[in-house]
Amino acid sequence: MNMPQIETHVSLKPYNTFGIDVPARHFVRVTTLAALRSVLSLPALQAMPRLILGGGSNILLTQPFDGLVIKLALLGKAQVSEDDEAVHVKAMAGENWHDFVCWTIQQGWAGLENLSLIPGTVGASPIQNIGAYGVEMKDCFHSLTALEVSTGTVHTFDHAACRFAYRDSMFKHVAPGHYIILDVTFRLPKKPQWHTSYGEVQAELARQGVVELSAQAISDAICTIRRRKLPDPAQIGNAGSFFKNPVVSTVLAESLKKQFNQMPTYPQPDGTTKLAAGWLIDQCGWKGHVEGAVGVYEKQALVLINRGGAAGSEICNLAKRIQHSVMAKFGIEIEPEPLIL
Ligand SMILES: Cc1cc2nc3c(=O)[nH]c(=O)nc-3n(C[C@H](O)[C@H](O)[C@H](O)COP(=O)(O)OP(=O)(O)OC[C@H]3O[C@@H](n4cnc5c(N)ncnc54)[C@H](O)[C@@H]3O)c2cc1C
Repeated sequence: MNMPQIETHVSLKPYNTFGIDVPARHFVRVTTLAALRSVLSLPALQAMPRLILGGGSNILLTQPFDGLVIKLALLGKAQVSEDDEAVHVKAMAGENWHDFVCWTIQQGWAGLENLSLIPGTVGASPIQNIGAYGVEMKDCFHSLTALEVSTGTVHTFDHAACRFAYRDSMFKHVAPGHYIILDVTFRLPKKPQWHTSYGEVQAELARQGVVELSAQAISDAICTIRRRKLPDPAQIGNAGSFFKNPVVSTVLAESLKKQFNQMPTYPQPDGTTKLAAGWLIDQCGWKGHVEGAVGVYEKQALVLINRGGAAGSEICNLAKRIQHSVMAKFGIEIEPEPLIL
C-alpha cells in the first residue's frame, strides 16, 4: 500500500537547477516516512548507490546516476510550541525553502528574512548550513529529525550534534545518504534582531524608502537584490555560488593584501580571515567568460552557468581551470560548494 511507483531510466533534467540531462537508473518520489521506509526495504535496491534529492539546486551531475534517486516530497509546516522568547516552527523536509520563509513572515515571525529566495528545500538547508547577507540557517535552528538508513532509526539532532560551520555541517562528513533529514524545527525569536549591515542591503532598503525595519521589508529588499544579481535557474541553469569563500590564516591574508591592496578581507571571530572567492576569480579574468555551452555569469564571477545543453563534465572542467588559475595567481585553493556526482 505504501510502496510508491519506482520508475526506471528517468531524465534528471527537471530535477537539477543546472538543467543537466542525465538519466537515473531508478527514480522514486516519496511523500511519507512509511513510503520512504518501504522503498529502502526493497532488497533489489539496497545495494545500489542512493541520491537523496531536494530541489537539486546544490548538485552537479557529471554522469548518469547508476542507482536510486529518492526525491523527498514530505510536506507540512506548523508552529509546535512557544515560550516567552521564541516560537518553535517545524517544517517537513520537502517544503520549498523560500515558500517556508515567506510563510513564517506572513505569520508575523522574524529570523529567516535574510535567507529569502535561496532555492531548494527545508530538508537540505542544514546540510550546508545555508547562509546569505550575514545570517546562517544555524542562527535560527533548533533541531531536526533524520532517518539513519542502515538501522531504520529516527534520531533527533540538536544544534551541537549538527556541528554547523561555514557552509558545512556534520551531515557533509558522513557517507552521502547515511541520514535522510525528515523535518527541521526552527526557533524564531519574538524580539527580532535585524541584520542589515551589508552595504547593498542598506542601499536597497533606502532605495525602497523603508523607514521602519520589518522582516517583510528586509525580505523584499533581499529578493530584489538577488533577482538583480543572480541568474534565475528557470532561465539559465546554475547552482548559485559554485565556490566557497576560502578561509585562511590572518597572517596569509595580510601578506596577500600587501600584494593585492584592493583585495576584500573579512576577519572572522575565530581569528581566521575569509576571502571573497568571487573577487579572486574576477581578478583572474573569468567574469563573463563564455566557452561553448558553459560560462561564468557576467554579473557574478562565482556563478557558473549552463548556457543550454551543457554536459556536467564541461562545467566541471571549467571549474577546475578556474581553481588552477586562482591557485596560480594567489596561491589559494577554492573549493566547490555543490555536490559533484
Ligand atoms: C540561484 C541560486 C542561489 C543560491 N544561493 C544560495 C545562498 O545564498 N546561500 C546558500 O547557502 N546556498 C545557495 N544556493 C545553493 C542551494 O540553494 C542550497 O544549498 C540549498 O539548500 C540546496 O537545497 P536543495 O533542496 O536544492 O538540495 P539538493 O541540491 O537537492 O541537495 C543538496 C545536497 O543535500 C542532500 N540532501 C538534500 N535533501 C536532503 C535530505 N532531506 N536529507 C539528507 N540529505 C539531503 C543531497 O543529497 C545533496 O548532497 C543557491 C543555489 C542557486 C541555484
